[in-house]
Amino acid sequence: MATFKDFRNQIKPNWCPGCGDFSIQAAIQRAAANSGLEPEQLAVISGIGCSGRISGYIHAYGFHGIHGRSLPIAQGVKLANRDLTVIATGGDGDGFAIGLGHTIHAIRRNINITYIVMDNQIYGLTKGQTSPRSAEGFVTKSTPQGSVETTLSPLELALSAGATFVAQSFSSDIKELTTLVEEAIKHEGFSFINVFSPCVTFNKVNTYEWFKDNIIPLSSFPEYDPSNRIAAMTTLMETSGMVTGLIYQDKTKKSYEDSVPGFRKEALVRQEMSLSREHFDNL
Ligand code: SF4
Ligand code: MG
Repeated sequence: MATFKDFRNQIKPNWCPGCGDFSIQAAIQRAAANSGLEPEQLAVISGIGCSGRISGYIHAYGFHGIHGRSLPIAQGVKLANRDLTVIATGGDGDGFAIGLGHTIHAIRRNINITYIVMDNQIYGLTKGQTSPRSAEGFVTKSTPQGSVETTLSPLELALSAGATFVAQSFSSDIKELTTLVEEAIKHEGFSFINVFSPCVTFNKVNTYEWFKDNIIPLSSFPEYDPSNRIAAMTTLMETSGMVTGLIYQDKTKKSYEDSVPGFRKEALVRQEMSLSREHFDNL
């Protein structure tokens, strides 16, 4: 059985020392191993941005797509090879700006894949511009007088779009993040995890210390019930989206694969056809 070391390759990440993305990579590798996967059973699809590099750093199938398009590619990969576990990744610029349309429709579609956003509240790869996740008043070279735009609340948006699995974590908490990724892999449908991942080079506001001071773990709400969608929305609104943990899960809604008539059956027929082709080729 594979261990997390089997999901490592020889490539040394070129993220800045201290970047939160290192821990997200480690959590994915651990979660994959803990889920009993072998490297050839996993595909990691990424978009563009510092986060986009992650697909090259994990020993598994990988595809480094274009900006904001990791989700269309990931959904295509899953529908073409339904036996693969597919994890799509992206940054907050990638998934919540240019790729936001894909994010919402992927949530609605509920295909059985996991989407992990590495949310550093800035554009890192292009050297520090304001992103949809930056706070109002945030000063960068693209908003020298401070951002006047309302900060996007991706988890509230996800709940409104009908998400069946919504979680949030902090890159420093590898233990919680690993567990959440395992739960997300297990979930039958689209699972969305937003991960606070500090950009130590360009974001001098949302630092590790800032997140530690502002994060509110859901474990501090003993009565919290992640199956209650209204409570999830209320909690997000009351905490300005700073809660971490499993925020919402709907185990009753069928995935896309289980909803489309004949979809599973057609997959079986295809499998039988490819088996008979193999048999034929070996004659
Ligand atoms: Fe990470 Fe920021 Fe460096 Fe990019 S620029 S690798 S997000 S610390
Ligand atoms: Mg970013």
